[in-house]
Amino acid sequence: MIILVLLVTILQKSTRVLYNRPMRFSTIFFDLDDTLYPSSTGLWAAIKERMNIYMRDMLQIPADEVPALREQYYKMYGTTLRGLQARHTVDVDDFLAFVHDVPLQDILTPNPLQREIIASLPQRKLVFTNADLHHAQRILAVLQLDDLFETIIDVNAVSPYCKPNPEAFAIAQELANEPDPRKCVMIDDLPRTTRAALEVGMASILYGTEEPTEDASGVFIDWNHLPILVADE
Ligand SMILES: [Mg+2]
Repeated sequence: MIILVLLVTILQKSTRVLYNRPMRFSTIFFDLDDTLYPSSTGLWAAIKERMNIYMRDMLQIPADEVPALREQYYKMYGTTLRGLQARHTVDVDDFLAFVHDVPLQDILTPNPLQREIIASLPQRKLVFTNADLHHAQRILAVLQLDDLFETIIDVNAVSPYCKPNPEAFAIAQELANEPDPRKCVMIDDLPRTTRAALEVGMASILYGTEEPTEDASGVFIDWNHLPILVADE
């Protein structure tokens, strides 16, 4: 009898622990390009090539200077666009429309397993991208992931900042209505972004490698591994 009471007590306690434990993370921010689809698709490379063309043809920058300049702006300002805005005269909407004008249907394929895994995560899910809303919506539609995210935080929403600026993370948290960075996870393919997320107090997961790094709280290539990385402790 005593053993039975003990067993019931233990069971009740473990049930309470299971169902009443606060979630370690409330909010997951997903990067878009080269994260929600793999870099092997070549899409991001195609977009970068169109940036080169735009800089050469529309901004009259000598062709041989363009790749190095783009790389320099990307490193200094976070994105090519922010660099162009700082150093040239550029129409933001025109630039974004031009560089994203690529045949997504021919390049991207939906991944049902990825969809199932993202859908199964109990946390709030948002896209946080340095691209613009229109591009993000098109990509998500082609990947058949467009119904899984609460909202898309795009480069215009965090203007004049972008990832990896700490101000961009602060705006993203504000838009997500989650003031505690410890409850947030940033999933991104760029170590500089996952490192920046750590620096503002978030957890971060680097997509695209299985090599552990100090730049992120975790790493993964296989979407099957994601649930355990964002699970409660
Ligand atoms: Mg990315």
